[in-house]
Amino acid sequence: EAERLRLPPWLKTEIPMGKNYSKLKETLRGLNLSTVCEEARCPNIGECWGGGPDQTATATIMLMGDTCTRGCRFCSVKTSRAPPPLDPNEPEHTAKAIAAWGLDYVVLTSVDRDDIPDGGSAHIAETVQHLKKEIPRLLVEVLSPDFRGNKDHVSTVVGSGLDVFAHNVETIERLTPFVRDPRAKYRQTMEVLQHAKSVNPHIVTKTSIMLGLGEADDEVLQTMKDLREVGVDCLTLGQYMQPTKRHLKVVEYVTPEKFYHWELKGKELGFLYTASGPLVRSSYKAGEFFIKNILE
Ligand code: SF4
Ligand code: SF4
Repeated sequence: EAERLRLPPWLKTEIPMGKNYSKLKETLRGLNLSTVCEEARCPNIGECWGGGPDQTATATIMLMGDTCTRGCRFCSVKTSRAPPPLDPNEPEHTAKAIAAWGLDYVVLTSVDRDDIPDGGSAHIAETVQHLKKEIPRLLVEVLSPDFRGNKDHVSTVVGSGLDVFAHNVETIERLTPFVRDPRAKYRQTMEVLQHAKSVNPHIVTKTSIMLGLGEADDEVLQTMKDLREVGVDCLTLGQYMQPTKRHLKVVEYVTPEKFYHWELKGKELGFLYTASGPLVRSSYKAGEFFIKNILE
């Protein structure tokens, strides 16, 4: 086995807990709501839940169970060809719990359910509708599956009343077949993002790229240009971290300076915002970025 890269100092730093953090942590108890933030032990929880100077609290919730029909080589979510059926009460229950919690911005993500005829698109849309009914001022982002490129299913999600439609490209074109499940395709992702924007030009579209998988600079730049080409508004870039030994190895720890370089490139290319840094994840301080760069 090849030697593993050593963790650079910038990935070992302690992250401060914002003011809101303990309050949200406290109210979460008893709501029967599990968050990706806690379950994935996300290092950004203090910042996202804490809300920073403007107190905008963001959290991520996973819908449609904990078992995915796909097996991406960077992802530690369980895989099965036949996960348990959807819980028909999940949209309403989840929406009520989120509404009771006191967030400003919620990211609804999900596993991919290729076993369900509509890929779970109606289930996701229903959750957004319940949420917007419960608490209209809440900003809702859906980090959506690709539905194997099925445009009707993408339209169902976009038409739900969400504010932000996110779908992650994850990596550059050349590495896509090695990094993502074979059913996920680079061009398909571009088409999904383009379709979402065409269904409703008022929604914000967003995507995320992991760095450190062996991509070259010109390939990252090309991906960013391809994303602008299909009208993507917001971009996040973060360091890929290997979740277990069975997952893809980290090829490179990209420096904070290099992440800053991509942030500037993102600005140059016209993204509404580019969040770029070693610890940035696709939902990183999403509410704060949205309010600062899009609402204002
Ligand atoms: Fe939660 Fe995403 Fe923020 Fe991590 S980056 S704490 S998963 S909202
Ligand atoms: Fe993980 Fe999403 Fe890939 Fe499923 S589709 S394995 S949840 S990254």
